[in-house]
Amino acid sequence: MSNKLIEVKNLKKYFNTPMGNLHAVDDVSVSIDRGKTLGVVGESGCGKSTLGKTIIRLHEPTEGEVLFKGENIFDYSKKDMKKLRSSIQIIFQDPYSSLNPRMTVSRLIAEPLISNKIYKSKREMEDRIKSLMETVGLSGRLYNAYPHELDGGRRQRIGIARALAMNPDFIICDEPVSALDVSIQAQILNLLMDLQEELELTYLFITHDLSVVKHISDEILVMYLGQSVEKAPYKELFDNPIHPYTKALLGSIPKPILGERGKIRNTIKGEIFTPINPASGCRFAKRCDYAKEKCYVEDPVFIEVSENHFVACHI
Ligand code: SF4
Repeated sequence: MSNKLIEVKNLKKYFNTPMGNLHAVDDVSVSIDRGKTLGVVGESGCGKSTLGKTIIRLHEPTEGEVLFKGENIFDYSKKDMKKLRSSIQIIFQDPYSSLNPRMTVSRLIAEPLISNKIYKSKREMEDRIKSLMETVGLSGRLYNAYPHELDGGRRQRIGIARALAMNPDFIICDEPVSALDVSIQAQILNLLMDLQEELELTYLFITHDLSVVKHISDEILVMYLGQSVEKAPYKELFDNPIHPYTKALLGSIPKPILGERGKIRNTIKGEIFTPINPASGCRFAKRCDYAKEKCYVEDPVFIEVSENHFVACHI
């Protein structure tokens, strides 16, 4: 039996704009095994968040399939999708803007339980909220607190508790630590990893920061302007990056040297191709030091170059 929880096949999401079709996600295929994490990395505008939102139909796809437990969810009716939403959850980047400031912590965590009519008695509901608060490391004294009284880390813990409320199998983590201080980032990442082990969760972890996904991912997909450019197990990607864009991203991770904290080693220079009705050829060509004539006219194919290591590059 296949261990794949989710399979994305040739997924495309184009947006109509006055200038033409914006190719936000362009023919992406990936799969994630149960209990594993796929990290999705790329700069802002590479399509990684659109990929996550299209997988769970917060955006309707232009083309392609998403198989969840073997069934194509793009064939689901609205009613089927409503049922599926308990199994698939999303954690957003900015916990503050995704939480209603007029609700207490307990009410915020209760929301998905109330809208899905999970508990009949108030007592059962309170017990579940307290247990979820404990699971995500929120002290019981915060039961009646409001989001503005909490720091970013605790607010994100509310977001995680809400995502866990319906016992999901799959969680899309959309830049869940990007708005947090570095010390709090580590706490939230550790919490997500502990929960994964305890509850056998499967994650799609979206971030612009390769150093963040290193610790949490089993595999990493690098995206550039809507397309997959490299995918490999995390260690292989860090030890043996092949695509020039992946190498540039790795080169831009701040150096942990005393006195040089936060210093950026390299930034990626050059003109960015337009994702609106993009021309043929490699979309990274104008920024690539190795670009040759062929790169400007022929699309590189995403191929397996060694076991489970895929790259789209003419060299
Ligand atoms: Fe650079 Fe060409 Fe490879 Fe694109 S296909 S990354 S332009 S070498």
